[in-house]
Amino acid sequence: MKTSDVFALLQRENRPMTRAQLAASTGLARSTVAARVDTLLRLGLVAPYGDGRSTGGRPPSLLAVNPQARVVLAVDLGATHARAAVADLSGELLAEERADLDIADGPEAVLSWVEDAGRALLRRAGRPLADLAAVGIGLPGPVEHSTGRAINPPIMPGWDRYDVPARIQRAFAVPVLVDNDVNIMALGEQHAQFPEAQDLVFIKVSTGIGAGIIAGGELQRGAQGTAGDVGHIRVGRPSEVVCRCGNVGCLEAVAAGPALARTLREDGIDVDGAAGLVELVRSGDLQAIHAIRQAGRDLGGVLAMIVNFINPSVVVVGGALAAAGEQFVAGIREVVYARSLPLATEHLRIVTSVTGERSGVLGAAAMAIAHALSPEAIEEASLALSS
Ligand SMILES: [Zn+2]
Repeated sequence: MKTSDVFALLQRENRPMTRAQLAASTGLARSTVAARVDTLLRLGLVAPYGDGRSTGGRPPSLLAVNPQARVVLAVDLGATHARAAVADLSGELLAEERADLDIADGPEAVLSWVEDAGRALLRRAGRPLADLAAVGIGLPGPVEHSTGRAINPPIMPGWDRYDVPARIQRAFAVPVLVDNDVNIMALGEQHAQFPEAQDLVFIKVSTGIGAGIIAGGELQRGAQGTAGDVGHIRVGRPSEVVCRCGNVGCLEAVAAGPALARTLREDGIDVDGAAGLVELVRSGDLQAIHAIRQAGRDLGGVLAMIVNFINPSVVVVGGALAAAGEQFVAGIREVVYARSLPLATEHLRIVTSVTGERSGVLGAAAMAIAHALSPEAIEEASLALSS
């Protein structure tokens, strides 16, 4: 049993423990536990808990995970906006910044902003560069997670196979984790709202449609990192709409923001983007409500397949159209409940995102923290201490 196992136990128990309790739980000798705890104390990852207020004799000292030990930089890059934050190891955001930034400006310009924002945020959080443990970044396109490169991203000119970690490491010499924006949104929603959920599907509906799938507690990226790319699954009803991918009747082509705007235009209603559509729905416009309900049903058909496939306990609907709220979710529920096995939907919750625009940075933080606190990272740091 290693140092990282003792840390994992404290983290899992999520309560202060004494060395004796740690020895009892791990079956390790007290001297071994004492040595492991000493390493964790020196790394700062564990700290004495409370101050032993008892006056009679020396109280057994309690130990707890120390979320303030290090910080991570979390970055969510969208098509036309960027958000960055510094978070502690519990995922709490200590400083946050948002900017209008076009991803199409290319990696040099966008990642220079990330570097500047990172330094400014560390200063605002009052943390030195040495406290930074890892950087997590979400990109609005397909990402090869193992190398941190975007692969043939449709809306990101200049980014194809660009080495994002290498660029960021010129400024911050720490591990850099990169994933696509929907995957980190799924992580963010899980960590912030459903920490107990091991099986969660996050579906983002805005200009495009994509899903982040967490199964068995792990984000599912698939062989090439495209797992959850559900926008091009064909919807169940007949459709002649040609998708940007060249196929006919793709979910994205009939149920994403531009498709709904087109439907309404055909009815003589001009809508200004997703926000305009949401506004119309909220104002009670019947045609807009009809369109969003149908989009919900189309989405529900694809979600029903996913529900039958991986049996999630939570489906979170996010992205710009999620702001349409109940009208949208009602269409989704209608079809998911009708087309999934009763056992699969018995305890299924279908909800709209609560973290909203923050889900990306929260998830990027969670991804970076998971890396910084991984057994491998802790063992490496322990080795570095003793050498
Ligand atoms: Zn398509």
